[in-house]
Amino acid sequence: MSFDLEAGLAARRAADLYRQRRVAQSPQEPGRVFGEGALLTFCSNDYLGLANHPEVSAGLARGSERWGVGAGASHLLAGHTAAHHALEEELADAVGRPRALLFSTGYMANVGVLGALLDRNGVVFSDRLNHASLIDAARLSRAEVQIYPHCDVAHLQRLLAAVNAPRRLIVTDAVFSMDGNLAPLAELAALAQRTGAWLMADDAHGFGVLGPEGAGSLAQAGLDTAAVPVLMGTLGKALGCFGAFVAGSEALIETLIQHARSYIYTTALPPALAEATRVALRLARAESWRREKLAFLIRRFRDGVGQLGLPLLASDTPIQPLIAGSSSRALAWSAHLEACGLLVPAVRPPTVPQGTARLRIVLTAAHGEGDVDRLLEALATLPETD
Ligand SMILES: *Cc1c(COP(=O)(O)O)cnc(C)c1O
Repeated sequence: MSFDLEAGLAARRAADLYRQRRVAQSPQEPGRVFGEGALLTFCSNDYLGLANHPEVSAGLARGSERWGVGAGASHLLAGHTAAHHALEEELADAVGRPRALLFSTGYMANVGVLGALLDRNGVVFSDRLNHASLIDAARLSRAEVQIYPHCDVAHLQRLLAAVNAPRRLIVTDAVFSMDGNLAPLAELAALAQRTGAWLMADDAHGFGVLGPEGAGSLAQAGLDTAAVPVLMGTLGKALGCFGAFVAGSEALIETLIQHARSYIYTTALPPALAEATRVALRLARAESWRREKLAFLIRRFRDGVGQLGLPLLASDTPIQPLIAGSSSRALAWSAHLEACGLLVPAVRPPTVPQGTARLRIVLTAAHGEGDVDRLLEALATLPETD
């Protein structure tokens, strides 16, 4: 491969795979201004509508009055403040686990965990549709990687039986980020316990949304720390803030503090952000109406699409994918919705497997019934394409 970047970009454009950013002129909320005018968006992960909540913003402002802006150092040197510490304790309480550790992003949390737990002698068993950050984390850990077909527990069982390694770690998205379905968490946990493997769940899309008080996918499935030793959750999705955490046993968290390179060799999050996240966490836990409204909108949307007979994947979560197949068809659908004043970007390979390009429609508690009806009306007139 040469450095002829123009040729590479042209090929990507020709394959309908070119990505472009849009510049937003207004905060995160369903009706959002991009360039010329407002679009009604169905593509944010701000599931509970907290990213632009006045109390969360006020928490950030109060936090910066008290703490300034930068943490100034990594957690292990002098960057770990009482704000971070309180947030970690509140996160551990929220997910019902002994301890939690903050990371700068979910990507870094996944990289940190796999690197700290595994070396060349370890084996990672990874669902084929896991998030890119888990794929990269597995590669960086230098462990052997075994991919199992999506949610195929029987296949995974055969792989596990054939591999004898001191540390075998099963990793899975709890809610799959592009499909919206849940991993078979109880079956995976039982298999892990039977075979002496460990299970790690990435609950980026379940934390805040599923389970009692939004405790997440594992709480919804009744799985504790013994059943699933490693839980990763993010703070930039349902909590509307930024960052991530890992929750588990005292020994797990101490091991991460000693060995997780993406924890050790990076600046701590701004403490004011930790204060804002504490406010968001309190709201997310207390205001169950946000989850109830979301569930209501999801039902309304699915009922409506069912009547239109469109190829919607089975999903009870806010992620509602409509499969177009080819990238060109996904782009045509997205363009049609935009002409109707709606923003639903096309998600294409390599983000999703070949032939499964889609509209990843995302509902949030900040949407109204009327918003969902507008979306359904636009979907009723999708263009016929090849
Ligand atoms: C978004 C996401 C991440 C990454 O989290 P960031 O905090 O945005 O880096 C990790 N895993 C899954 C499944 C995600 O959807």
